[in-house]
Amino acid sequence: MPSPAAPDTPATPGLAPLVDPFGRAISYLRVSVTDRCDLRCVYCMSEHMTFLPKADILTLEELDRLCAAFIARGTRKLRITGGEPLVRRGIMTLFGKVSRHLASGALEELTLTTNGSQLDKHAAALADCGVRRINVSLDTLDPQTFRDITRWGDLDQVKAGIAAAQRAGIAVKINAVALKGVNEHELGDLMVWAHGAGMDLTLIEVMPLGDIGENRLDQYLPLSMVRARLAERFTLTETDYRTGGPARYVRVAETGGRLGFITPLTHNFCESCNRVRLTCTGTLFMCLGQEDAADLRAVLRAAPDEATLHAALDAAIARKPKGHDFVIDRRRKRPALARHMSVTGG
Ligand code: SAM
Repeated sequence: MPSPAAPDTPATPGLAPLVDPFGRAISYLRVSVTDRCDLRCVYCMSEHMTFLPKADILTLEELDRLCAAFIARGTRKLRITGGEPLVRRGIMTLFGKVSRHLASGALEELTLTTNGSQLDKHAAALADCGVRRINVSLDTLDPQTFRDITRWGDLDQVKAGIAAAQRAGIAVKINAVALKGVNEHELGDLMVWAHGAGMDLTLIEVMPLGDIGENRLDQYLPLSMVRARLAERFTLTETDYRTGGPARYVRVAETGGRLGFITPLTHNFCESCNRVRLTCTGTLFMCLGQEDAADLRAVLRAAPDEATLHAALDAAIARKPKGHDFVIDRRRKRPALARHMSVTGG
């Protein structure tokens, strides 16, 4: 692990943990480090996206300062996401810096959500920074379907990335979005493949985030239906295994692996929500499914002192809502939220 970098903000006993008005301690921060991606998954982005100008994006130093402030207030788990986090120039510098909080014990876990396309290059360095588990998003094992979903992605490149991560000793979990008529018939095979390679699989329901130029109703596949179909082929047993995220897991007798379900539309998981999400522009979303947000970039750039920043964190967490209410609007066929998942970070 790289040696600690300065300036440092250790977990500070004098600073109160961030707890929202409903008594939920904020222990999990997701940080989107870029809105850019090298793929264009059809449920996530439109083909021609307008990306943010550089001046709007937090520098790696600003991101590091915000991460340190959250960790000082009780964040134990930090997930770096995007866009595609591994396409951000210099991103390994941020991993290197944040790893000092792992070394000090203030942070329990530093992890990553990636499409895997650049993983081959970065896996060893990630492991050196103390990354022990990552999520790789992969919806299909069919090269042509992969190209259709991602618009131009290369499945072999992702598989090579997964193999590199495993060689580096990083545990990989596969995340797959269940898409009606696209991958619904191969989800069982995807699970057998993942479990065979020692990876858990989590299935995700498509969420109504961002205008993607396609009708969500065409993509939406309730996981209750997927689970019922899988149960015809496999023996699924409930477990109380949790990873700190919203997935609920079953054990699959035939493969010995774990299968997770993230069901924001058919099952609300807000009551145990310990998460907030920071975008690459320093906007803090207290809830994935609500518009309310706090502008931490303005605070960072206006005030060099930590006290002002911590007061802004308090004010933001005091506004964390009780829950969200995603609805795929069947009449207007509009997304429930205008922002894309690539903005908020998955
Ligand atoms: N590029 C990285 C990746 O592919 O994992 C991180 C960002 S991506 C936005 C994070 C996750 O969000 C991916 O698993 C992706 O499939 C998922 N995702 C994107 N849009 C979604 C949507 N509308 N509904 C459900 N999941 C979505």
